[in-house]
Amino acid sequence: MTVHSIPQMAHYIPPAFLTELLHARSPSGYESEAQAVFDRHVKPAADTYMADALGNRIATLNPAGDPTLMLAGHMDELGLIITYVNKDGFVYFDTIGGHDRTVISGRRVVIQTAGGPVKGVTGKRAIHLMDEADRKKVPEIHEIWIDIGARSKKEALARVSIGDAATYDHEFELIHGTIGTARAFDNKVGAYIVGETLVRLSRDARKPAARVVSVATSQEEIGVRGATISGYTVDPQVALVVDVGHATDHPDCDNRKYGETRLGGGPIICRGPNINHKVFERLVKAAAKLKIPYQVESDPRPTGTDARAIQVGRGGVATGLVSIPLRYMHTPSEVVDLEDVERCVKLFAEFARGIAKGDYRIW
Ligand SMILES: [Zn+2]
Repeated sequence: MTVHSIPQMAHYIPPAFLTELLHARSPSGYESEAQAVFDRHVKPAADTYMADALGNRIATLNPAGDPTLMLAGHMDELGLIITYVNKDGFVYFDTIGGHDRTVISGRRVVIQTAGGPVKGVTGKRAIHLMDEADRKKVPEIHEIWIDIGARSKKEALARVSIGDAATYDHEFELIHGTIGTARAFDNKVGAYIVGETLVRLSRDARKPAARVVSVATSQEEIGVRGATISGYTVDPQVALVVDVGHATDHPDCDNRKYGETRLGGGPIICRGPNINHKVFERLVKAAAKLKIPYQVESDPRPTGTDARAIQVGRGGVATGLVSIPLRYMHTPSEVVDLEDVERCVKLFAEFARGIAKGDYRIW
């Protein structure tokens, strides 16, 4: 027997709160599994905790603090919603959120039903059964179906109902070191970051001056709906939003069009009209103080994140946006370096600690 000397790579164990969120199935409007995870990990650390009619989870630390800092990360993910079952028991669907239609077929899916999870696969005509022209086309949604192994409409409808939602059955795993893949890093990492920041601040010996409110928002993927109403409820002076952002460091991505950001390069701090300049500067200062790497991106319009809703809530909110670099967004195999996630938790906590009483008057 030959004994090889293998240099021991430090084995990275991701936090349970994050892996439970990644495991939770939470298509927009059907977020109950993610809500339960957030409840379990964040509620015990909060001074007050509430849920609202759209499923937001709102955790408050230091309720008498001033100003109010809102931290928002959406917990919903892309999904499929059952629309029709044909006579042979094949299940048709529409999409929840912005799917890439080239990757929908050939997937294992789990449908959340009243009777528990139902397994299926997304089927379409095999390549052998297509003519030359069809092979070049991206299938329309109605040309794909879910096969749950039922033999008739009656049998299928005994197991699934119109309006049930489904997600890809792709689970989180590490692929190398701290680099992992999952079907919904977008935006379970964000929900984790806002919840974990509050948990860590609750352990500080000194309370923050601010009232810190961490919100796991619902229904971001279909129009920032949870953030719209929770921004009103929380009524912050300052807000930090965290979502995922494109790492543009992979092949076939033109930096002239999409800027330059990379996986593992640190949280991406956004600039542009959706962002308050002082909040941006303070984020940069906090990152420098912590000596964590960060990247800067710009966006010339309201961003495609909760920040677009929160900034224009009530009389206006000084808003910042930080993105976790991610490859292959809105596919079943998104890729993130979890070190960037941990860096963002530290960044948010430092930003919160740096707010002095009455600070918001300078925004
Ligand atoms: Zn998204």
